[in-house]
Amino acid sequence: MSSYKLFHGLEAWEYIILAEQNDQPARTEEVLATPNNTLPKTSNQDSSQQSLFDNMPDCDEMDPNVKQGIELANKVEVKYRPVFESLPPTKRAALAWYFLPHRSKKATIGVTRPRILKWYCPFANQNDFPSGHRYCINVYAGCGHQCEYCYAAGYEPEQPHCKKDFERGLLHDLANLEKHNVPPAPVHLSNSTDPFQPIEQTVGQTLFSLRQILNHRHRFTSVVLLTKNPSIALQSKYLDILQQLSVLDNNHPAKEQFRKNNLPGLRLEISLAFWRQEPCQAFDVDAPSVEDRIQAIRQLSSEGIPIVLRIDPLLPRNPLPNNRSLSDFHLPQTQTLQDLEQLVNLAAEIKALHIVYSVAKIIQPRFKPISTTMKNLKSVYEYIAQPDRLIFRGGSWRLPSHIAQQQIIDPFLNICQKHRIKAFFCKQNLVNTP
Ligand code: SF4
Repeated sequence: MSSYKLFHGLEAWEYIILAEQNDQPARTEEVLATPNNTLPKTSNQDSSQQSLFDNMPDCDEMDPNVKQGIELANKVEVKYRPVFESLPPTKRAALAWYFLPHRSKKATIGVTRPRILKWYCPFANQNDFPSGHRYCINVYAGCGHQCEYCYAAGYEPEQPHCKKDFERGLLHDLANLEKHNVPPAPVHLSNSTDPFQPIEQTVGQTLFSLRQILNHRHRFTSVVLLTKNPSIALQSKYLDILQQLSVLDNNHPAKEQFRKNNLPGLRLEISLAFWRQEPCQAFDVDAPSVEDRIQAIRQLSSEGIPIVLRIDPLLPRNPLPNNRSLSDFHLPQTQTLQDLEQLVNLAAEIKALHIVYSVAKIIQPRFKPISTTMKNLKSVYEYIAQPDRLIFRGGSWRLPSHIAQQQIIDPFLNICQKHRIKAFFCKQNLVNTP
């Protein structure tokens, strides 16, 4: 098993760092495909050789606005082409008007036009990773939860803050969706921050975003939120909106597709990797406690909110090879098989849509030295990887894939299988969200 190459040799981390350095959205979690979780390939495997005008009606017959939009689309960088090519001319032109700069003199152009409501994976080659047309709103910069394994620490500021002109930028982008009649697509809050982190209580940018998404519901299919602080969602002003977003009304363009496949309009992805507070305290430093999260998960489920449980990240567990223990490396017992069983049980109890997982990486933070906890975890990784060495790429160390698969992932998947609950690697979860 080798780790999943995302974008022309780039793996997730490299992409994430590259993305954020360019002020573009990145992903929240790392990717490691399993044999059963291989991502689908697009049918068009050689789009670089094709023109966007292939199979098009005679351009003279087209509406001039569509014709100009198609001309714009024809300049889009090769890596985005499968998304544009999958759409009929009118929708293709709409996407071009929304995502591509209108007056660029460059021969090829990227998806850089939106300010806040951005292309989900701007560095993904859509032949290698077909994430498709979808949006990401990073509601804040940075995160107050300070998780030890957070990859965003590799490029985001240490202290969370609001983005300049966030609300104005979002309204501007939404107006453009309407102006160009862009077809609906999934929207994700957020990839590099937690939309329900403490700052939300005073600033309310996530609430503002949700209200605006609701106002423009016909422009979005799945609305996805990822958080470690689900209790905020129980406040009536959030709960009301989340419940409304969960249901597509009869006039929604995707209503029939969602009804036929029994899909909810909203997914609240709640991250809970630990069943006991001791490891949670060590790794999810300033995030809400295990107890708070479990309580909120149960209440949200009883309120009818569709939940995805993210048991994420997965970590090494005792016993380590040759009967060594995590305590030998000054770490608490992280995720026993019993802990994982309890977490999977919780997912089954609340009828979670499915589970999402990935394996922790050892991040080199951008603005501070690596913490003692993560240094200790790195020593564990080096120990269990023997005789192989850790792989360092894109600012993080990770286990060789076959070690991660055998020692960390497979025992977890066995538990999920026993409880008959689906578990998706994080990126597969993404492509399964229409
Ligand atoms: S909740 Fe944790 S992992 Fe997620 S963005 Fe915040 S600090 Fe990073």
